[in-house]
Amino acid sequence: MNMREFDFNFQDIVEAAQDIIIVTKAFPIDWPGPEIVYVNKAFTLLTGYTFDEVVGKNPRILQSSGTGAVAKREIRRALESKKPVRVTLKNYSKSGKEYWLDLSILPLKNNFGEVTHFVAIERDVTEQKELEFRLDDLSKTDPLTGLLNRRAFNEIIDKELSRYLRTACLFSVLMLDIDHFKRVNDTFGHAVGDQVLEKLGDICMALFRPQDSVARVGGEEFCVLLSETALEQALVIAERLREIISVTGIPVENSVLNLTVSIGISEVNATDTAYLDVINRADKALYKAKAEGRNRICIDTDS
Ligand code: GH3
Ligand code: MG
Ligand code: MG
Repeated sequence: MNMREFDFNFQDIVEAAQDIIIVTKAFPIDWPGPEIVYVNKAFTLLTGYTFDEVVGKNPRILQSSGTGAVAKREIRRALESKKPVRVTLKNYSKSGKEYWLDLSILPLKNNFGEVTHFVAIERDVTEQKELEFRLDDLSKTDPLTGLLNRRAFNEIIDKELSRYLRTACLFSVLMLDIDHFKRVNDTFGHAVGDQVLEKLGDICMALFRPQDSVARVGGEEFCVLLSETALEQALVIAERLREIISVTGIPVENSVLNLTVSIGISEVNATDTAYLDVINRADKALYKAKAEGRNRICIDTDS
């Protein structure tokens, strides 16, 4: 294709493009980094920096600790090997506002075939990225209580088991089931039953530490992973939870409901090869707590 066939100026396209275009020198890769020689109007619109403010500077002025080490490493590797690269990363405007970019960098060659510059073509994907984060949150959350859902919980316990097998860092699991919950539904209806579950979720959320994971894993079943917690300590925490629930009156319609729960506890051990091993033992202990009369805690005796 012969460019001279076109009766227009390519720079006009670059200037007016909606995507951001930045051209830098190809050297030095190390500090202070390749300097910017050109930015288009879209760059100023998004970042707040004018052409004159950034020419001579390095694109790193748009980065910060939140930019993402993996993306930064990928860019560096591409620049060093003079290869194209495409990454998604976070940058910061002049006023400090963060935005997400879909960024592709291409090496530019001079007439001798030497790479003298890089061009970065960038698109603001902040909205898509935020939507992605929201969807990710939703996929991990139980909509009624705001606690983790079963899938998210399983992922966490799976990771915690791997950590235990690597580092011997103990953890315990509480499996909780509300006693006679059918009666709540039968007496007040399903909608009130749901409100009660919400309230129970709030109680759980308030009691546990940020490093613990609290999930609603079934209709009226909750599961808690107590990080770095041995069985004896888990028992103390479970007792506190059982006690708090049994003394907290839950207002429903014109009365106050007193609920009790049964809890089964298990501690991870060296024979566990899958997270379900730990969960199943807590479940077995819960079954025992129910069988022994409810409103109580049982420990998995295999733990
Ligand atoms: P138990 O002491 O043996 O646990 O008795 P229970 O009545 O709680 O029995 P079980 O745990 O087997 O049954 C749970 C009941 O909880 C069944 C269903 O009526 C109710 N349930 C399950 N999921 C939901 C839910 O999302 N909302 C409401 N309102 N009720 C639910
Ligand atoms: Mg149940
Ligand atoms: Mg129940």
